[in-house]
Amino acid sequence: MALSLSDFESDALSTLMSYGEIPCLSPMFDSQWIEHGYLDIAINLLADWAKSRRFAQSQVTIHRLEGRTPVLTVTIEATGPVDGTVVLYGHLDKQPPLGDWSPGLEPFRPSRQGDRLFARGLADDGYSTFSALLALEQLEADGIEHGRCVVLIEASEESGSPDLDAHLDALSDLLGQVELLICLDSGALTYDRLWVTTSLRGVINVEVTVRVLEQGQHSGSASGVVPSSFRILRQLLDRVEDASTGEILVEELRAIIPDEHVRAAHDIAEEFGDIVARELPVLPGVNLMGDSSADRILRRSWSPTLSIVGMSGVPDSSIAGNVLRPFTTAVLSFRLPPSVNAELACEALMRVLSNDIPSSAIVELSSHAADGWVAPVLAPWLDQALSEASIGAFGHDVGFTGEGGSIPFLASLGKRYPDVQFVATGVLGPGSNAHGIDEMLDLPMMIGVTNAVSSVVAAFARHKRESA
Ligand SMILES: [Zn+2]
Repeated sequence: MALSLSDFESDALSTLMSYGEIPCLSPMFDSQWIEHGYLDIAINLLADWAKSRRFAQSQVTIHRLEGRTPVLTVTIEATGPVDGTVVLYGHLDKQPPLGDWSPGLEPFRPSRQGDRLFARGLADDGYSTFSALLALEQLEADGIEHGRCVVLIEASEESGSPDLDAHLDALSDLLGQVELLICLDSGALTYDRLWVTTSLRGVINVEVTVRVLEQGQHSGSASGVVPSSFRILRQLLDRVEDASTGEILVEELRAIIPDEHVRAAHDIAEEFGDIVARELPVLPGVNLMGDSSADRILRRSWSPTLSIVGMSGVPDSSIAGNVLRPFTTAVLSFRLPPSVNAELACEALMRVLSNDIPSSAIVELSSHAADGWVAPVLAPWLDQALSEASIGAFGHDVGFTGEGGSIPFLASLGKRYPDVQFVATGVLGPGSNAHGIDEMLDLPMMIGVTNAVSSVVAAFARHKRESA
């Protein structure tokens, strides 16, 4: 029997709501996360709920490494003679609220409107612990065989998963021979089917500071003599991005899009129309980039792009005086094509931004790079299992799409387990606003994804039995 919304409401909803109240920000957004202890409160809450689940044989463990965020594992032993491990991945750390939420909604006071829950971190990615365990519990309740499963919930994902590799090293015995990885932290284009991610973009963050003065000067006395740090920054930016088109000019950040991804984008555009544009709150009259729906799907999933996500050294407009400022800092956020080597791309960017600086101004740079990911080719059994899982849970065949965001975890696991089958899926569909204000979890989607995961885990055990 499939999990229903009312099963979820009686078994898990109140704990998920309690989780929604915890401001367990990822370390990048809370430098005092150890003192605050919110990640500990969250992991203990999830661990206690995990211990209350009904499995024939399971083990709930919180893993701690000095100075790092903790990891929760729930190991559920196989119910039949099936070897290999299925890992189900999620994370419990959250993005910050970002800004003021809409009236009636608050980031850390979950509220329900119809079948949708609003709070920071429910859809990204607090639901994952509940979904993974309920999916497996359902199999045991129905007497359906499953292999050994490890639900692995980390707490540094929103900071780029800096702690995950160390934990994976320490957990290699516990994980054993990983054969299938199900990542419950990805997106969906619609709420009517299971969506499986075929690629993710990489990311490079560069903080660039241009300095020209020891302290700010009256612009009446210094302008025209001392070069403006903002103008020098503009020139540097012009080296990496064409200001009129948004095209990225550094060759190492560009890639050729594989034919099958181009075809898939056209198929999606044919079925759903301008699905990317439709979901964005674009102001009336603003012309979008891209010349067709398919082009926009490809641009979002495969184009290198630059967004300026933060600035310093520039006063708020309400207190702006006529001053030639001593420095300007900008944080540059690049998204990379999935197949680009982020480390090499980052080195190229550093060269372009540090050579031959206009007016010999002082430039300081720091950077962080993370690879994107291209899904390995699906094994025939898994291709069929995903289709059956989506039809069973939603009444619609599975959809495949590239995502514009990044999940560093997948790239690092892809390197660690090159022969493993991957399923990256999730509930982040239209209006889910992960990382934005008014983050929303669509409960029917969560139930559908949970049931689809049950079905895929069961198919893995059947496949192992048949191929034994
Ligand atoms: Zn996430």
